[in-house]
Amino acid sequence: MIWNLGSINADNFYRVPHLPGPGETLAATDFQQGLGGKGANMSVAAARAGARVTHIGAVGPDGDWARQRLLEYGVDTPHIATTETATGHANITVDISGENNIVLFGGANQALTNQMIGAALAEASPGDTLLLQNETNGQPFAVQTARTLGLKVVYAAAPFQAEAVQALMGQIDLLVLNAVEAEQLESAAGRGLRQLDIADIVVTLGGDGCRWHSSSHAQAETFGAYPVKSIDTTGAGDTFTGYLAAGLDRGLPMKDAIDLAMKAAALMVTRQGTADVIPDLKDIQDHDF
Ligand code: ADP
Repeated sequence: MIWNLGSINADNFYRVPHLPGPGETLAATDFQQGLGGKGANMSVAAARAGARVTHIGAVGPDGDWARQRLLEYGVDTPHIATTETATGHANITVDISGENNIVLFGGANQALTNQMIGAALAEASPGDTLLLQNETNGQPFAVQTARTLGLKVVYAAAPFQAEAVQALMGQIDLLVLNAVEAEQLESAAGRGLRQLDIADIVVTLGGDGCRWHSSSHAQAETFGAYPVKSIDTTGAGDTFTGYLAAGLDRGLPMKDAIDLAMKAAALMVTRQGTADVIPDLKDIQDHDF
């Protein structure tokens, strides 16, 4: 069982002829709203990988649709609170050349209380997994509580904040980060990944696959990505981590969980969109890898 302390966002996509300049008012030629946020994406990915997932998070009074969408995607939602602050959102403006700019509002994602997190984790059992990222508040309390209860902690350190990772050092079972974040962490810590007090670290390498550093192995192991025609890499990392956490939660060895995660992420980069288009296990079976 996975308990995912994570963000829930509305991704608002506006198509415009060009990116607006200061003071300019511009009519959008198209608008689409999707479910997003790293947290929601990972909950959906883990659910599509077959895990039982409870999302711990918050939306605003305007956020019932997001809770409903997660429920439809197989995620348990009783621990998604409603706060007075608006649902987190990303306003994404895309021009005809594909160039974009993004305004992010954390909103309800930043209004979680220890009481909400504690009430959710009180229902967890030893051996369950706590999954978390950096788009909500409440990580230190959640991790401490999870350790006390005997949960495994899987932390995707994105968006990267060195202090947030360092504050949780020694309490994480698995850290997942991309190549840029791994470099930032090494330079902030002044040490290589292998010297950090974390049992397993998986560094994703985009089209080059991923690398697994285990404190019990002398050498890091690299896994090549499945070759696909990439059209949109949005959500690939979230799909990878959700699948990886789900695989490990159901007892797969790390290598098998990584393989499954890379298949799901490879399919994801062939699709346009975020949470709504994350592949399920049948999509993976049906694809000729
Ligand atoms: P993030 O989006 O967090 O930066 P990455 O870009 O490293 O994450 O991608 C996460 C995973 O998605 C990779 O480890 C890989 O398995 C898969 N992936 C990403 N890009 C491609 C690609 N072009 N072809 C195949 N798999 C890919």
